[in-house]
Amino acid sequence: MPIQVLSDDLASRIAAGEVIERPASVVKELVENSLDAGSTRIDVHIVGGGAQSITVVDNGQGIPAGELSVAFERFATSKIDESSDLIAIGTLGFRGEALPSIASVARVEAISRHFEADAGARYLVDFGKSSPVEAAGAPQGTRIEVAGLFKNVPARLKFLGSPGRELSRIQSMLASLALVHPDVAVSLSADGRERLRTIGSGKLVDAVSGVYGPKVAEQMLELEPDDSAAFSVDGLVSSPSLNRSNRTYMTISVNGRWIQSRRLSYAIEQAYHGFLPDRRFPIAIARIRTPLDDVDANVHPAKAEVRFLREDLVYSVVQRAVRGVLSASAPVHELGAGRAAGSIGLLRTPGSVGNNTPGVVGIQSSPASDSDGSGAGSGFTQWPDPSAIVEQSRLPESQGESPATSSTTGTPKETLPVLRVIGQSHETYIHAEGPDGVYLIDQHAAHERVMFERVQQKFEQNASESQPLLEAATVDLGPGVMTTVQEHLEELNRVGWGVEEFGTNSLIVRSVPASLATRASGDGAGQVFARVLDELSEGGTGETWRNRMLATIACHSSIRAGQILSIDECKDLIRQLERTERPNTCPHGRPTIVQLNVNDLEREFKRR
Ligand code: ADP
Ligand code: MG
Repeated sequence: MPIQVLSDDLASRIAAGEVIERPASVVKELVENSLDAGSTRIDVHIVGGGAQSITVVDNGQGIPAGELSVAFERFATSKIDESSDLIAIGTLGFRGEALPSIASVARVEAISRHFEADAGARYLVDFGKSSPVEAAGAPQGTRIEVAGLFKNVPARLKFLGSPGRELSRIQSMLASLALVHPDVAVSLSADGRERLRTIGSGKLVDAVSGVYGPKVAEQMLELEPDDSAAFSVDGLVSSPSLNRSNRTYMTISVNGRWIQSRRLSYAIEQAYHGFLPDRRFPIAIARIRTPLDDVDANVHPAKAEVRFLREDLVYSVVQRAVRGVLSASAPVHELGAGRAAGSIGLLRTPGSVGNNTPGVVGIQSSPASDSDGSGAGSGFTQWPDPSAIVEQSRLPESQGESPATSSTTGTPKETLPVLRVIGQSHETYIHAEGPDGVYLIDQHAAHERVMFERVQQKFEQNASESQPLLEAATVDLGPGVMTTVQEHLEELNRVGWGVEEFGTNSLIVRSVPASLATRASGDGAGQVFARVLDELSEGGTGETWRNRMLATIACHSSIRAGQILSIDECKDLIRQLERTERPNTCPHGRPTIVQLNVNDLEREFKRR
């Protein structure tokens, strides 16, 4: 065929493919237009998962009758002009592509009344063919109805999911937009049934309530933004007890624009490490603020992704903020010994509830002068080995402070106190007694620390052990991943992965780090490798990445929560932990050990 310029019709259908992939993309474009028009209320109605019809009604500024048809021309926009800076864009739309794209693959009716006009106008584009603009009665604002989406593009129609699937995509997308714009009342109804409604009060917690329900809203923790910083993040994140089985409940915005970012979602997930079980994800709304010219919104056809000038900085701001609020709210801190008020939150709760619980009343009524130890013993009867506890209470009372365990710090500094292991509870915590009180050690976190330092040391000494696989495994890489892997091939091999390139987009794995082989099955090691590659493609280089990889290997080589340990195994683990350089935290920074100070216990039990 000779080279020829495509007809407008064909060109716009091709262009439409980039912007409009499915019903949810139509909804997104229309709702973003409504937001740009300053609407305070946006109602979305869906029929048949959006393939039949999508209607978006807003009360924004409206489109003047004389411009209604222009709005449907390609590259027609009121949002930027020749003088605009394409980097610092304040509106959600700016390319002038949405309306013409939608109108080339559907029947679109637009009715609008500009806020300065007395009457409205109506304009119809039927799969690219337009009728003249005519007058129509209408309230201020814009109503756009899209019917028969993709009827003229059968290929695209084939790729749509069931109406239910498409609706759930619309719903989760609209939920995100509603969360990012709590000042706008957003509603969604599908086949006549209401699916979502926010009140537009401007308060994020109200938006969360409208989208996820009031119960969820109650359990959200507030991020504390640093308003003085050029980069900051505010929003709400779920307390660890509230979590979901997939990632779709994380909403991120940058300077008011909803974005999707695997990397930033990962930053949030990472912040929850240790707070959530494996494969559970938080609900989170993170609103990031950066200098406008630090973000390029013009990199993705559907504007779903943006590019940051300083992505690592944004990543760490997000991670730190989430981590901060989680740590501050975590119950372990309630345990902190030597608190001025003299009450231990964790113990106070059962005590105060206990006023009408016979068992607890019994303990409370035991005389404060009861110093023979039996009182303390009975308070702990649910502990694994009661006789050991009685024995403990006969030990000398706190005799001053060893430098390592000053009572003003919750956990010891560089070394562990001398611990006597009592047993294990909840298949997760090792209980021990030390000079200044009772200690709980998280068995996974503790073992992670042990394994981390071991793996790290071997890595540094170039002495990592590896275990050959019986059968080499090939791993297919996503496009682009190979380049990153190539940069890190040496490190991967040094830690014990026997990895070679295999063709353009595959690796062959001949061996795995020995520590993984003893604990995980061959399959497990594969998952760890996938995780390591994931982390690689999340970016981050040099020492941070290396430490993360080592931590990942350590994590998967470690005893898990939920594993029953014998008393000897508990003791063994504590001895190993004692010998590490930083026994008080796991490689991800979580505490390995918390302490109940003996003075606080005495105060709680009204012994003095
Ligand atoms: P863009 O949003 O990139 O400018 P669109 O094709 O989405 O391009 O819209 C074209 C123009 O139509 C917008 O610039 C705006 O002026 C107008 N418009 C579209 N939707 C609305 C609406 N709901 N309310 C007011 N104006 C609108
Ligand atoms: Mg637009």
